[in-house]
Amino acid sequence: MKIAFYDTKPYDRIWFEPMAKEKNIEILFLEEKLNKHTAAFAKDCDAVCIFVNDDATKKETIKRLKENGVKAILLRCAGFNNVDVKAAQEAGIVCLRVPSYSPRAVAEYALGLLLAVNRKLHRAYVRTRDFNYSINGLMGVDLVGKTIGVIGTGKIGQAMLSVIRGLDMRVLLYDPYPYKPILDKTPEAIEQFGKNLTYVDLDTLFKESDVITLHCPLTKDTEYMINKDSIAKMKDGVILVNTSRGGLINTTDLLDGLAQDKFAGVGLDVYEEEEEYFFEDRSDENISDADLIRLTSYRNVILTSHQAFFTKEAMMSIAEVTLENAENMDSSEGSPNVVLP
Ligand code: NAD
Repeated sequence: MKIAFYDTKPYDRIWFEPMAKEKNIEILFLEEKLNKHTAAFAKDCDAVCIFVNDDATKKETIKRLKENGVKAILLRCAGFNNVDVKAAQEAGIVCLRVPSYSPRAVAEYALGLLLAVNRKLHRAYVRTRDFNYSINGLMGVDLVGKTIGVIGTGKIGQAMLSVIRGLDMRVLLYDPYPYKPILDKTPEAIEQFGKNLTYVDLDTLFKESDVITLHCPLTKDTEYMINKDSIAKMKDGVILVNTSRGGLINTTDLLDGLAQDKFAGVGLDVYEEEEEYFFEDRSDENISDADLIRLTSYRNVILTSHQAFFTKEAMMSIAEVTLENAENMDSSEGSPNVVLP
């Protein structure tokens, strides 16, 4: 079996190379991202393996993959908003993903962003590197007793609930499909997540939360859920954390909110126009994306390059499941890893 791996970096080889060798799978490591032009690189490959910023949303890309003999799109990630799954299905190409690799990795990172923007660790780090030991402007708030709103209570949202337990915050939850054990307040759920959790409607969560953290997928329903209207409902001095997908936030509206001092802090691991920049070293270039420059310039914003997943454990698990998906692609019907339209 031969698989074309798009948008690869040196760290992708660490686990994939030895595991593929063991399984007798040949990998063609490509640095290019998948799009309608680069689809041709997959000629004679059984499958392509793509990551979050590859683009398989165009029917033409899918058509070219099909013409080149590709039978599967293997997503080495959980999200699949960058694939036209319906077009792939119609072309007879199966889409398989890694639904869960290390929810804790993302949740721990989201907590890191929250603590860092609140206590301004990013600014303190830069100051002391310059022997500036002033703490003016670095005041945060105690989180104990404050309210955190968690949007999306799937695998990562639940992991977030576990990691924030020690903060002793009041927790508001929103999910159109609530996690039943939490809703039912089962003893197991209380043991795992604590007592202080309530599902509420989205408006209540926006209005009452001191911290809002996003853990839902990017869909037509969730796109731009953080916009000028929802921002207007939020408390002044709210902290917003997004480790899910950039498209959940309307960046223009976020920038307006930042300009109006609405936010005490914003921690972003994702950005709606990240494809062109994230995972790449652009330090020698002038950045032409004015929104990205403005976001980066706000002192109360930490923006990182989609690295919440990036732990040893998660990378190993991604490699294992992706290659299992490859081995099972002809008999994947009914597998929870299959992505359906
Ligand atoms: P999941 O499918 O287990 O959970 C998603 C939850 O969101 C579900 O409970 C679902 O009901 C809920 N949801 C759906 N529509 C919603 C809406 N309109 N409002 C609120 N909640 C809604 O997924 P997960 O594994 O927890 O991952 C969540 C997201 O995190 C992924 O879709 C992906 O975009 C992102 N992610 C980011 C990274 C990173 O490195 N930054 C890594 C992995 C995943």
